[in-house]
Amino acid sequence: MLRVVLATHNPHKIAEFAAIVAAHRPDLQVSGYDGPEPVEDGLTFVQNALIKARAAAAHTGLPALADDSGICVDVLGGSPGVFSAYWAGHAKDAGANTALLLDQLSDISDPHRGAQFVSTIALVVPGQNGDEGVEHVVEGRWPGRLALTPSGAGGFGYDPLFVPDGQAPGSERTAAELSAAEKNAQSHRARAFERLGPILSAL
Ligand code: IMP
Repeated sequence: MLRVVLATHNPHKIAEFAAIVAAHRPDLQVSGYDGPEPVEDGLTFVQNALIKARAAAAHTGLPALADDSGICVDVLGGSPGVFSAYWAGHAKDAGANTALLLDQLSDISDPHRGAQFVSTIALVVPGQNGDEGVEHVVEGRWPGRLALTPSGAGGFGYDPLFVPDGQAPGSERTAAELSAAEKNAQSHRARAFERLGPILSAL
């Protein structure tokens, strides 16, 4: 059985990844990673995902998957982006992050509140017996817009603010009001994972 290390300490992401992996590649044995966390000092999702996956692959000697993700708001020029986790400060307080983002958009009316979640997944396969290793990067985007007030208790992070596109007018829900299965079927992470499927199959 192919073993892959998941280079994240975020329990929400681990749960989402495990569900997505189980749906796509039930033969994969996914292990958590409890090694040292590298400094995520990249300026892009790609750089940060590679930093995390390289560190886990080097520490364990196993293929490692890492996701770097965030929310990109159109009128903010793509911010918070890579700074999503600590937009309101280093406490990484999800409530404070969503409150700050809502405040920043308080003068922006509904048609201009477009945003998307982005997930970049890096897969780093360490070299063996003198062979060079391989690195792959895939990206998934989930378009939508920001609600005027948060709602819903599911998911994590900015989910209570994010209204995914493609819903029937009048019955729209935020990502935090979707079931875990509904979110995992359409999220940015699921879309990135779909692109990773063929790469994992070829390992
Ligand atoms: P990372 O762990 O450095 O990739 O930080 C990602 C941050 O982006 C999280 O802490 C959340 O604030 C936000 N984020 C990423 N994915 C999601 C999601 O699926 N729902 C809500 N917020 C998310």
